[in-house]
Amino acid sequence: MSGAILPGAAIGVLGSGQLGRMFAIAARKMGYRVHTFSPDSDTPTGQVADVEVQAAYDDLDAVAAFARQVAVVTFEFENVPAATAAAAERFAPVRPAGNVLNVTQHRLREKTYLQSAGFPVTPYRAIRSAAQLQTAIGELGLPAILKTAGWGYDGKGQVKIDSLAQASDAWASLGTDEAVLEAFVPFEREVSVVAARGADRSFVAYPVIENSHRRHILDLSLCPAAIPERLARDAAEMARGVLESLDVVGVLCVEFFVTDDGKLLINELAPRPHNSGHLTIDACIACQFEQQLRSICGLPLGSTELLRPAAMANLLGDLWNSGEPNWPAACAIPGVKLHLYGKLQARPGRKMGHLTALAGDTATARASVIDARESLHRTG
Ligand code: AMP
Repeated sequence: MSGAILPGAAIGVLGSGQLGRMFAIAARKMGYRVHTFSPDSDTPTGQVADVEVQAAYDDLDAVAAFARQVAVVTFEFENVPAATAAAAERFAPVRPAGNVLNVTQHRLREKTYLQSAGFPVTPYRAIRSAAQLQTAIGELGLPAILKTAGWGYDGKGQVKIDSLAQASDAWASLGTDEAVLEAFVPFEREVSVVAARGADRSFVAYPVIENSHRRHILDLSLCPAAIPERLARDAAEMARGVLESLDVVGVLCVEFFVTDDGKLLINELAPRPHNSGHLTIDACIACQFEQQLRSICGLPLGSTELLRPAAMANLLGDLWNSGEPNWPAACAIPGVKLHLYGKLQARPGRKMGHLTALAGDTATARASVIDARESLHRTG
């Protein structure tokens, strides 16, 4: 393939969390070198990368020096400042490109973009004052969810509003000057499509994944989702439309609500591999991180075929509340795989790792991944 970045080359990753770690593992398996850049040291990505650069994202000289050392720059954390991507872009291609980051790191820009491009989104209003919030509640009704426009993830910067009396406190609690009010969607289920688009504009998507959240944080993912085939096709086609419309080269995940009347609404985009796609590591021919590598390097995309039904359960820091989890107990359950991210401190709500279970059907995979996670609490 002409112009492809071949094994042996160095890939730069902005960000140093678990997504970068799993990317680095996939990249090193295929013979690439990995450099990571973030303000921290001894990070989940840095522990498995060839080079760990510790500098602030707004240290543009450090970003430029980093980009000079690599053949392509990608990211695992989309909340890097636009100037960071621009500084890197002067020395190496950034994939997905800065415009994709710009749209997806800001809820309001993302929703406005999706709506104007004709994709179905949750009804929303832009909010810049307590007075605007009152008006928007009048228009959208209650309950509703107020979300900060920028820098939100894993339910941070979100507050549900059930009564008009809560509105001004809700606005004050976000401590922001720009937010989005969304109508509360009484969804039937949540699903996601992890998709990749190559440098040659080829497109692949994984089978639709079904997700459930706890405290606004992803808890369980199942694949394939128990939805009608038509809906699964529509979700994949919508994902294709989003990647094409944004001209993504890389991986992007589209999160959907499936409404009670069987319609799809886009909740959110993530311009990178996604937590719901972690099960692809064990369950698919090429996982989402390999797909990220292939796409940003200009290699042909890999097969997204699901080898066996799978379930993934997140392991949050809360698990450590009563000491070290019982890892041997989970490892004793057939078909279960353990992934830990090397994080040095367990804090409540912090993603520390995940378990994946493979089985003959999703119900069995789900039961065994839940069983495995429960077993971590067992003593002795
Ligand atoms: P988000 O960070 O926006 O993806 O929100 C995290 C989770 O909160 C979602 O996956 C849903 O479970 C829930 N949520 C967010 N927005 C809404 C909404 N408009 N209606 C109902 N549930 C929501």
